[in-house]
Amino acid sequence: MTLDFDEGDELRALRSAVADLGSRYGQAYFLEQARSGGRTDALWAEAGKAGFLGVNLPEEHGGGGGGMVELSIVLEELGAAGCPLLMMVVSPAICGTVIGRFGTPEQKDRWLPGLADGSTTMGFAITEPDAGSNSHEITTVARRDGDGWVLRGQKVWISGVDQADALLVVGRLADGPTGTLRPALFVVPTDAPGLTASAIPMEIVSPERQFQVFLDDVRLPDDALVGHPDQGIAQLFAGLNPERVMAAAYSLGVARLAMRKATEYARERQVWGTPIGAHQGLAHPLAACQIEIECARLMTQKAAWLIDAGQDAGLAANSAKYAAAEAAVHAVDQAIQTHGGNGLSQEYGVAALLAMSRVSRIAPVSREMILSFVAQHDLRLPRSY
Ligand SMILES: Cc1cc2nc3c(=O)[nH]c(=O)nc-3n(C[C@H](O)[C@H](O)[C@H](O)COP(=O)(O)OP(=O)(O)OC[C@H]3O[C@@H](n4cnc5c(N)ncnc54)[C@H](O)[C@@H]3O)c2cc1C
Repeated sequence: MTLDFDEGDELRALRSAVADLGSRYGQAYFLEQARSGGRTDALWAEAGKAGFLGVNLPEEHGGGGGGMVELSIVLEELGAAGCPLLMMVVSPAICGTVIGRFGTPEQKDRWLPGLADGSTTMGFAITEPDAGSNSHEITTVARRDGDGWVLRGQKVWISGVDQADALLVVGRLADGPTGTLRPALFVVPTDAPGLTASAIPMEIVSPERQFQVFLDDVRLPDDALVGHPDQGIAQLFAGLNPERVMAAAYSLGVARLAMRKATEYARERQVWGTPIGAHQGLAHPLAACQIEIECARLMTQKAAWLIDAGQDAGLAANSAKYAAAEAAVHAVDQAIQTHGGNGLSQEYGVAALLAMSRVSRIAPVSREMILSFVAQHDLRLPRSY
């Protein structure tokens, strides 16, 4: 008998401590930073100091020694409190995992303590304008230059370049003898000569912004290449399942926030002498949303657990991300409907969640690509592309 759905005292304590921190800042802080062009540095720094950002990283490098179960709890609770920190998906989850598993001892010493306490933030750059979802087609290339590298290419939709000290860039190595291109990961400081970034104007109400990044013959030292040149694919995949679990946690936080707002409003608001939440036209869709959230949360916990147990988590992580994104889209839509006109006002902060909830259907991997993945790998259906 090993199946156990009880999170236990330690994880409950973590949830509660993060929820306390998140509620001290709250959605008002998050939206104010977003609308004034500010950033979430204060919250990020406090979460880092409390050990929340590095809860998944190894203790010997300043982390909490936990895993994705703990880190996804942190992001879910911050989101539920109104502060879904998108950079948690990339900095500790992807970059921390990849460097923690594959980095050289020097790379671990250099990067992990800062990622763990939040004093260093790292972005992740794989998407390119022409390749889009088809990452096999990326064209950012690294070539040898003396005992270092020169990186050239272009990336798009890269989150938090303004917050990041460095980017973990997925490029390709020109393989001398065969001429083929192999994926490889490089740590590129955001102030490296030749790296420029421009913010993409977005309709997402968030202080965490997206950027286009140009790598114009960026010179890098030999040790900018993470791990071993032959392990590029394995390294990349090691980061992708944590990314999907964190995207699910992000969506769960947004969904829970929408549901809290909707149910509080539905209990109070009266237009026919009874709270609007008594009408089944509102109560049933809200209840359905709640069930979707709970199912998505169970799937997220399972995927996080599989990653931490070192087991194959591809299907679970993709399914969790899909389920949580759908739950968030439905919960935010229903929360807006529940608020009537107020649902579209700035005052109630519900419409502010709209684009944010849609992000999860698109990034880091779109709903359609997940469905194709499940169709091929779980249902063994032929692929169309
Ligand atoms: C807010 C935000 C933050 C992001 N942050 C980062 C980041 O930090 N780092 C990073 O590298 N990237 C980031 N991304 C990029 C993100 O991962 C991509 O947007 C995503 O992978 C989709 O790629 P695309 O936008 O090029 O869409 P496309 O690949 O052009 O797809 C467009 C549409 O076509 C569909 N489609 C494509 N191929 C198929 C197919 N074979 N079958 C069916 N449908 C298909 C897609 O599902 C989608 O609906 C971010 C994106 C957003 C919106």
